[in-house]
Amino acid sequence: MPRPISVTISVSALAHNLAVVRHHLRQAAAAAANTDGAPATAPSIWAVIKAHAYGHGTAQGVQGFAKADGLAMLDLAEAIECRESGWTGPILLLEGCFEPADLDYADRYRLTSVVHSAEQLDMLARARPARPLDVFVKLDSGMHRLGFAPGAYAAAHARALELHSQGIVGTVGRMTHFANADAPDGVAEQLGVFQRVTGGLPGPVSICNSAATLRYPEIALARPGMASWVRPGICLYGASPFADANAASFGLKPAMSLRSRIIATQDLQAGDAVGYGGLYVADAPMRIGVVACGYADGYPRHAGTGTPIVVAGTRTRVLGRVSMDMLAVDLTPVPQAGVGAPVSLWGVDGPSVDEVAQAAGTIGYELLCALAQRVPVRTAS
Ligand SMILES: *Cc1c(COP(=O)(O)O)cnc(C)c1O
Repeated sequence: MPRPISVTISVSALAHNLAVVRHHLRQAAAAAANTDGAPATAPSIWAVIKAHAYGHGTAQGVQGFAKADGLAMLDLAEAIECRESGWTGPILLLEGCFEPADLDYADRYRLTSVVHSAEQLDMLARARPARPLDVFVKLDSGMHRLGFAPGAYAAAHARALELHSQGIVGTVGRMTHFANADAPDGVAEQLGVFQRVTGGLPGPVSICNSAATLRYPEIALARPGMASWVRPGICLYGASPFADANAASFGLKPAMSLRSRIIATQDLQAGDAVGYGGLYVADAPMRIGVVACGYADGYPRHAGTGTPIVVAGTRTRVLGRVSMDMLAVDLTPVPQAGVGAPVSLWGVDGPSVDEVAQAAGTIGYELLCALAQRVPVRTAS
């Protein structure tokens, strides 16, 4: 019998979450039309599927987000996989091209590229694509990661328009990325920079990640003559971008469920220590279970005693240090659970991935992306 761990990816949860985001944007558009009277429509949605769809699998992402307006990712190989699996809509490369040869693939597979540097504009200037390549010229509005500085943006955008007139570039869009959309600081400052620098320019815009899409949908709306795209990632997988609001509060459903089983039990006496380092010491007689899941499966080693976990439908806690292949759980609230009892580490019938992440001092994103190759994947419709 194989080791009892597995992960289930729910394609219908992915589709559900996309529909939730779509609905949220449509409501914002309707509200805007009511308040300011200016015609506004919901933006198009790039479903972000980088990092193998945040650990859910590129194929599952393509299937779950079949109704997205576009797919966004970083890796050429993933983009090609999407095309070859039949995705015919737009594909956005979020970091653009890394070397001139990438532009040949962008041409062949009709990929839209972010252009965030002068080097990328130089590469484009030397390219001879069969069809003009669509681009989004990225502004660094304050995150200081990728993009042209505000003072350099107008010239970069003008260069892209010149490449457009030469038939090398097709559509020229404008884009930026928020550093604090999930935090109290919000987006006001960066949005102000984006509007000041790119305001009068033509072309579609793309500014919002999950946090900004959920919290500030009104800033993402399309207006007459101005197409707009949002770029949600994490929320489409049913996890939250916020420390102070869980995914369920937005009606999102977890798409990844990590499950295993109890493979051994132990009866401890007061003073008995559990696992490496003996970090948990029983203060009275108790029963514990050993679960076939460890950090080599992607479960965070920093999840210490108290991390929530569900055994046979009952919420309990992790005890002591997570090992490579196993972890220990408190069976006090589930005295009937023995070898073979089902364990839910995170997902539909477990704690949320965000709760586990918080207990481990990280975010749900990291746990989803770090799911290990060795965990067998089941895809549920
Ligand atoms: C990853 C990424 C996103 C999606 O971010 P989430 O927080 O997962 O919604 C959007 N835009 C860019 C440029 C990204 O790299």
